[in-house]
Amino acid sequence: MVIKVAINGYGTIGKRIAEALYRHPGLDVIGIAKINLDYSINLALKKKFRIYTVKDNIEKFRSAGYQVHGSIEDMVSEADVVIDATPAGLGARYKDVYVKYRKPVIFQGGEDPSVAELSFSTLCNYEDALGVSSLRVVSCNTTGVLRVICLLDREFGVEKARVVIIRRGADPREDARGPINSLKLDSISIPSHHALDAKLVKPGLDIETYALVASTTLMHIQVLFIKLKESVSKDKFLNVFEKVRRFILIDAIRTGIDSTSKIIELARDLGRFRNDIPENVLWINTLKVEDKEVSFIQAIHQESIVIPENIDAIKAMFELERDLWSAVSSTDQYLNLGLRLFDKEYN
Ligand code: NAD
Repeated sequence: MVIKVAINGYGTIGKRIAEALYRHPGLDVIGIAKINLDYSINLALKKKFRIYTVKDNIEKFRSAGYQVHGSIEDMVSEADVVIDATPAGLGARYKDVYVKYRKPVIFQGGEDPSVAELSFSTLCNYEDALGVSSLRVVSCNTTGVLRVICLLDREFGVEKARVVIIRRGADPREDARGPINSLKLDSISIPSHHALDAKLVKPGLDIETYALVASTTLMHIQVLFIKLKESVSKDKFLNVFEKVRRFILIDAIRTGIDSTSKIIELARDLGRFRNDIPENVLWINTLKVEDKEVSFIQAIHQESIVIPENIDAIKAMFELERDLWSAVSSTDQYLNLGLRLFDKEYN
């Protein structure tokens, strides 16, 4: 069975999802929707993606020499599922179209949670998403935090979590956003929206998040303080992350990688497309384990972190994999996730 996927919005997130699906057997991109005339249309056409746009733009695109297959409504009507990766808040405005054609849809974290039946993060609530017809993949920072918390919760139980987030001010191409020379409160009250979102995905979770915005475009940094329900050793703790390919453990001493810019350089050296790191990057040197309490620092690549979860969301909706770990390992394998710089990352 081949699932026909339409991607509405071909920006930072949409173009990455399109290419990830391209590599995944059984998931076929039947079209991408663009609004603006820019170079990314040429690149999308070279990749053989069919282009759709809003009705009013069709003539403009055609007279600029681009082959357009039809309107966004046409694209939606031909799909089995829509991935909405339009700018934050716009997905809700498209909801009527998705409902009109009775199409399952996956929204992104910039939408209000009420847009979908369930806010989703694979390691937390994959099982609850089976057969659900509208999901919202939570935002980049929340995905990074929830991957850790829900994995630990499955292994040891999580009693509470406190997280400090230093969020990137803008994506690399966003030359009109800031701050340029400041560290700013992300929200003026505590918790930041990340904790509220995390609780939607994992009801009852005791979590507070504190977020700042920094004048950088590469990655987010998160400092996590987690109290588990049982005591763990350092080895036992790290072992849990070693088993899942969407986590990378980095030794800052052996690798010299102690910053987000060096992580991006590593991605470049590895030849990763667009320098993407869809994995959580955990610095093992920052890990402190004391009885039930653990703390550490991780980096999150905002542009690519939610891509695996979007693929998992399709699998859950169509029940392509009923088992969480089968879904995760096939997604991670096709996206070629995971990196081991040494036989064993820690001693
Ligand atoms: P983006 O601005 O990079 O891309 C949005 C795309 O939608 C662009 O191609 C734009 O041309 C297109 N678009 C604009 N108006 C449209 C319309 N009326 N119909 C169809 N397409 C239209 O945005 P993004 O960063 O990819 O964000 C998309 C969603 O993903 C948002 O909900 C955002 O919050 C979420 N998200 C973003 C990031 C990130 O770091 N950029 C990370 C996680 C989640």
